[in-house]
Amino acid sequence: CSKNHPFYRLTFFAQAEHQRMLKEKDMENRMEEALTNREFVVYFQPKIELKSNRYVGGEALVRWLNPQKGLIPPDEFIPFFEENGFIIKLDLYVFECVCQHIRIWLDAKLTPAPISVNLSRAHLNNPHFLDNYILIQQKYNVPPHLIEIEITESLLSENLETVIWAIDKIHNAGFTCSLDDFGSGYSSLNMLSSINVDVIKLDRAFFKSLDMENDRERAIIETIIDMTKRLKMRTVSEGVESGLQLEFLKTIDCDMVQGYVVSKPVPVNEFEKMIFKERG
Ligand code: C2E
Ligand code: MG
Ligand code: MG
Ligand code: MG
Repeated sequence: CSKNHPFYRLTFFAQAEHQRMLKEKDMENRMEEALTNREFVVYFQPKIELKSNRYVGGEALVRWLNPQKGLIPPDEFIPFFEENGFIIKLDLYVFECVCQHIRIWLDAKLTPAPISVNLSRAHLNNPHFLDNYILIQQKYNVPPHLIEIEITESLLSENLETVIWAIDKIHNAGFTCSLDDFGSGYSSLNMLSSINVDVIKLDRAFFKSLDMENDRERAIIETIIDMTKRLKMRTVSEGVESGLQLEFLKTIDCDMVQGYVVSKPVPVNEFEKMIFKERG
């Protein structure tokens, strides 16, 4: 029968669905072992401050170094681990790796830049979600101002009250808090007035066109940056890939940039070379 026949399309769909289920079963079977075997590796992507052109921090981003399949990007396993709850363990593992590295840098008398970690929505179901973070931070004796916790914007439209409460807890622990993926979801602007974050991370969708030639796109970015400044928040533009974008962001006074134009996420030793070459 032809490819457009409903029967063919159905089998195709069923096969794809079947493949996905197999993949998820496989991940489910292997995740705990992978955690013990340290197959999850933390990469770091630096951020620069536009005014000074200096490294001012980095984001910790997890990858799965699977012995059979090689390096697997987070988009292929995080959504599934958010469904089955394993993300809670994985986020804490990533956080512990970050604290370990910061401790090594401090012991070597290097001035570390603050590092941000992503916090999955799953944590917020537990009223004591931050306790484990604080325990780990204290175990490595890391000054809390060196830690930034990223909460994704999509959470705002789901449960604003919980997010406000979570930001408060994060601040009480002395950590910095940022709103990730800003502008990608459906949260309304007036929510920002009740969201007391320190940093807004502009979603990389704003930087799809490399040449910044579209007046309307530029106007929107400029307006968001102006607004966040009035709200006394700092701004990070994510996913910046071109020099033209960088120049534009300088002219409109964006504070920081994180993107391939500076560096892709890299293993910790490469990150150290970059940030400490300059910071000493
Ligand atoms: P995110 O937190 O928004 O992280 C930024 C993503 O943008 C990263 O993708 C980064 O590699 C990518 N990116 C940065 N600059 C550029 C650029 O110039 N061009 C392009 N095309 N992409 C750029 P990555 O590492 O694949 O991570 C994807 C998402 O997975 C993250 O988005 C975050 O939501 C999630 N994720 C990663 N690590 C963790 C983790 O440890 N815990 C949790 N809960 N989520 C994580
Ligand atoms: Mg992030
Ligand atoms: Mg995110
Ligand atoms: Mg983001």
